Amino acid sequence: MFNLKIIFSSILRKNKPTKNWEEAFNESYGDISLDMWRILHLKYLLHGKKATKWAYTELQKMKFLEHVPKRILREWAKRCVLSNERETISCEEIRIYFPGLTKKDAKYLAASVSNTCRTFWDIQQAKECDAKFYLWKSSACPTHKRMNNIICPIDEPVSKSIVKDDMITGDSYPGEGYRCLCILSPLLSKLDLPNGKLRVYMDGEIHRMGRKQFYQLDPLDE
Ligand SMILES: [Zn+2]
Repeated sequence: MFNLKIIFSSILRKNKPTKNWEEAFNESYGDISLDMWRILHLKYLLHGKKATKWAYTELQKMKFLEHVPKRILREWAKRCVLSNERETISCEEIRIYFPGLTKKDAKYLAASVSNTCRTFWDIQQAKECDAKFYLWKSSACPTHKRMNNIICPIDEPVSKSIVKDDMITGDSYPGEGYRCLCILSPLLSKLDLPNGKLRVYMDGEIHRMGRKQFYQLDPLDE
């Protein structure tokens, strides 16, 4: 049977067929998402091996994963850096090694593993933007609250004596650890700097300095 409503609306729109949200989305963003996919694919091809090695090293620093066999950590590292999906590691997989964990806690643990591994791409992206330093943003992360607005060099992780996270055995970057919600925010312009006296992590210590002194380390754009 004919649906008159659809026929009339087609005529009124000069015979343009009605689009569902998926068609409309693809028409507006199809090319962009294809480009994004190509960029991601290229990134994985260029840096995938290095990313996996980095992520595997980092997972071995996480005390909460010490009961997970190394070959599994290596496999998780590879899977997490080569995907950006939410549930790359399932709750069921986590519960093989943590049988008593609730589904909710297994989800948090899986997310902690993924985020720790994917920190590699945050560092990589900052380097590609020629950032020398980044701002450690931790306003949403209770574990690393003390790190908020500290300026850190992109080339070296922050010493564990400064981060003071009992669950991590070595130096680390924002985004790593159990339930870390920190953000690595690259410093590209003078506008990215926080207000007041700056706290800059260098040579294993936090140095307090004014903007002029910092510009000698990193002459940022206006
Ligand atoms: Zn954190």
